[in-house]
Amino acid sequence: MTPEQFRTAGHQLVDWIADYRTDLESHPVRAQTSPGDVAMMPGQPPESLDEMADLLGDLDSIVVPGSTLVQHPMYFGWFPANATLSSVLGDIASSGLGNLGISWESCPALTEVEQVVCDWLRQLVGLSDRWHGTIHDTASTSCLTALLAARERATSHSQVGPGLAGVDAPPVAYATAQAHSSIRKGALLAGYGADQLVVVDDDPWTRAMDVGDLEAKMNADMAAGRCPAVVVAGVGTTATAAFDPVASIVEVARKYNAWVHVDAAMAGTAMLVPECRFLWEGVEGADSISWNPHKWMGTVLDTSMFLVRDVEHLVRVMSTNPSYLMSSADGQVIQYRDWGIPLGRRFRALKIWFQLRLDGVESIQQRIRRDLDNAAVLAELVESGDGWEVVAPVQLQTVCVRHRPSGLGPAEMDKHTLGWVGAINDSGLAYLTPSVLDGEWMVRVSIGAESTERSHVDALWAIMQKAVANQDLGS
Ligand code: PLP
Repeated sequence: MTPEQFRTAGHQLVDWIADYRTDLESHPVRAQTSPGDVAMMPGQPPESLDEMADLLGDLDSIVVPGSTLVQHPMYFGWFPANATLSSVLGDIASSGLGNLGISWESCPALTEVEQVVCDWLRQLVGLSDRWHGTIHDTASTSCLTALLAARERATSHSQVGPGLAGVDAPPVAYATAQAHSSIRKGALLAGYGADQLVVVDDDPWTRAMDVGDLEAKMNADMAAGRCPAVVVAGVGTTATAAFDPVASIVEVARKYNAWVHVDAAMAGTAMLVPECRFLWEGVEGADSISWNPHKWMGTVLDTSMFLVRDVEHLVRVMSTNPSYLMSSADGQVIQYRDWGIPLGRRFRALKIWFQLRLDGVESIQQRIRRDLDNAAVLAELVESGDGWEVVAPVQLQTVCVRHRPSGLGPAEMDKHTLGWVGAINDSGLAYLTPSVLDGEWMVRVSIGAESTERSHVDALWAIMQKAVANQDLGS
């Protein structure tokens, strides 16, 4: 494709995206396909050339029906996965530039825009300048990075010697059962072993970590010859958006010289509004933080902020310096390859750079406050509804609910819950995520799509009431 052909096709694509975003509400929220439908395309690579119009037609007829529309205003599923159009422009710019990020020298702008943008974000969430950030692909990677850094601190850099096999006191990681599955995965990948991943009790209502239990378990581990290495504090957990008490966790962890990683993948965005910052009070004493602007803030995937205080330690754990990557700038510049796992990196910072400069911080803050208000309003409606209950504190934008008709036993209740949420999701009118809490199904309403206004929340509540009454929802 020549630049001129690209210009023509690119304009067509941008028009297609703008139309698609304008017409979102005319589509069902959930993907309309059955397993294998999309894979029914011809199994051989194309032998003749297609026109751009053919591809755009296939986006309409194959890709859109095969997508659950997380940008739809009636999307209340897993978590907000906003992709603001300003950040989409940054993504196009990143791809169009086609830079190679393997060292500062391979693209100084890639490194230094990332440096600047990470520092902007640090300031915007109210963190001190003791924090330094980089952008990983996902929070799973950020968490794995933290667990590796913690493991090496706890084992006096065993990686350059015998590794974990030669360590007398095996490192232990702590989190509650509310922690995201990526924490367990990261701990297993980082070599802690399932036996050294300790589940700390959480409060039956707030789901916040029981710090007394944390300390007792750390003590017991020390006594048994293990080494408390890292505590992962959830700031906005996945199921109920619960908040572990970071300040108390830091205080306990410090006694054992254990690393504290704050997983604020979704809720980090809330810290853009100062009135939410009490929710991670004590964060300055932690060692690392993961926060995904690609969730609620609205930078298109994949932009996960990883903030760390001791960069020197991180670099010691992560650095490689083969001769072909050495340059005269070494020592004066940041080499982000030494802050994480991959060598080659995309120019992800452009996505945030475009969003912050084209949309502005104020519009993001207004959106966060709007979503918090909408969640509070929905929670009130649910509380006042006949047979309805809110089953976890609503501290952010997630409202966890059950509808409990009188006289149903546990199995019938689960059937009822999965029945009404299934009916809503099948209708395509809205999308919600069922999830198990205390062994019983409940439904999470995660508010925060960029396009979701109060009217959409009101519409959802009407749909929920109809669904529990087995009324026809239409589509
Ligand atoms: N941590 C929390 C609290 C999450 O909610 C999620 C995703 O839902 C993750 C971590 C993992 O995020 P990612 O998909 O960026 O790996």
